[in-house]
Amino acid sequence: MTEKIKSLIGGEWRDASGPEYATHYPADGSTVARLHAATAEDVDQAVRAAERARQQPGWARLRPHERAGMLNRIAAGIRARGEELAQLQRLDNGKPINETRALVSSAAGTFQYFAAAAETMEDAITPARGDYLSMSVHAPLGVVGAITPWNSPIASEAQKLAPALAAGCAVVFKPAEITPRMAIELARIAQEAGVPDGILSVLPGKGSIVGDALVRHPLVKRIAFTGGTSVGLGLAKIAAEKLMPVSLELGGKSPTIVCADADLDHAVAGVLYGIFSSSGESCIAGSRAFVHASVYEEFKSRLIAGAKALRVGDPCSEQTQMGPLVSISHRESVERYVQMGVEEGGKVLLGGQRPQGDVYAKGSYYLPTILEGLPNTARMCQEEIFGPVVALLPWTDEADLLAQCNDSVYGLASGIWTRDYRAAWRIGSALDTGTVWINTYKMFSISTPFGGTKLSGIGREKGRLGILEYTGQKSFYWGLNESPLPWSL
Ligand code: NAD
Repeated sequence: MTEKIKSLIGGEWRDASGPEYATHYPADGSTVARLHAATAEDVDQAVRAAERARQQPGWARLRPHERAGMLNRIAAGIRARGEELAQLQRLDNGKPINETRALVSSAAGTFQYFAAAAETMEDAITPARGDYLSMSVHAPLGVVGAITPWNSPIASEAQKLAPALAAGCAVVFKPAEITPRMAIELARIAQEAGVPDGILSVLPGKGSIVGDALVRHPLVKRIAFTGGTSVGLGLAKIAAEKLMPVSLELGGKSPTIVCADADLDHAVAGVLYGIFSSSGESCIAGSRAFVHASVYEEFKSRLIAGAKALRVGDPCSEQTQMGPLVSISHRESVERYVQMGVEEGGKVLLGGQRPQGDVYAKGSYYLPTILEGLPNTARMCQEEIFGPVVALLPWTDEADLLAQCNDSVYGLASGIWTRDYRAAWRIGSALDTGTVWINTYKMFSISTPFGGTKLSGIGREKGRLGILEYTGQKSFYWGLNESPLPWSL
């Protein structure tokens, strides 16, 4: 049954003012929800309401422990509705149910973590150099515009909403057009947890209309963005004109390195997980696997066997490891990249096609795909595919390996498989990426900051200091002079 969805605009649940559109279940193409796209006028209304609401005593004077209580109630609300949210997320982007359950659980943990951050954040009394008391306090930045992609909505939305609310900001959300429901449900849970009307609005719609209006709005004082690099670069230019802080979590082309001494059982399992989980629709997907020449053939045959055995299919099944890609048009983009790889001289060792059979016929499925024979300079090794496609590249010389790994506009993440802890430290220190995984991959903790270097982004999300990204430092001087300032006498 198709669900009708309303947007939350300035405390009011209503249809947004733009045209109606539908969202589809990637596993079979069926329509799952209908809603109206937001417009620039809706953005203006939401932002103005947010600015008013954040100045009301009910929000501005909330004590840290009360704000923390609210965030903990949001965490509890997410947990209470966990299964329902996991199913909605599955319907929105086709991720397997086990994966969406984990995302929901991590979102609850994010609110709980930032509740603790809100309650324990301390301002400073700074050393005085005269007859005064000087203080540095963290003041909320104001209205935050949060913009998210379709691949892991609830997790990336929680990573923006939780620290922003913890810091005392108001948030206007622009989820991806095709995956609006996690942000909508988070807003419902936040309302139930006591977040005042206007503090949080959710405006699904087109990036070029809603996202653009949000970034340009004069009352928006910060943008928290996760998405593609080209969009992120455009936002950064607009933000520069406003002198507005932004955090940009952008694309990646992450290298994973298999050393000659690696435990191949671990390395094969890790590389499979790194590229094929989430069907490769992951910013940190390990899409370039550099394998030492001495173990290349053995690794290759074990990787192919492992990838062949992956269970591609129905996202409802707990056995499924890879669901469909998010849409037919995204699958076409992945297919074009594989074709390009072949034209560039690559050899497809596995996959490179859609799975056959009735169960796959209506969905946007694509098989795990492994290529070899490409230089690191090939477009397929340089551009983000955002699909289940890995290029195998043999290496022998460590300096040359590092040069190739770092020869990328991206710098989001990397992985190293070795038994030699000195080599791991040496290589990991030389890799220009925001995260380095050693003998593991795609592990995440809310307490560990995450973000990229180079065109993978700027700023960090998560971590104890993540709350400070939504505050500005403000200084107070309290005069203690018994007599007037001497200059005026
Ligand atoms: P996208 O950049 O096309 O869209 C992301 C969001 O930006 C969407 O909500 C979209 O509507 C909005 N948007 C588009 N044009 C806009 C504009 N002109 N102004 C303002 N907003 C605009 O990305 P996508 O296809 O939804 O997601 C995939 C990308 O996200 C990949 O590149 C992936 O690597 C990246 N990503 C990065 C991380 C990270 O943490 N680094 C995490 C997940 C996804």
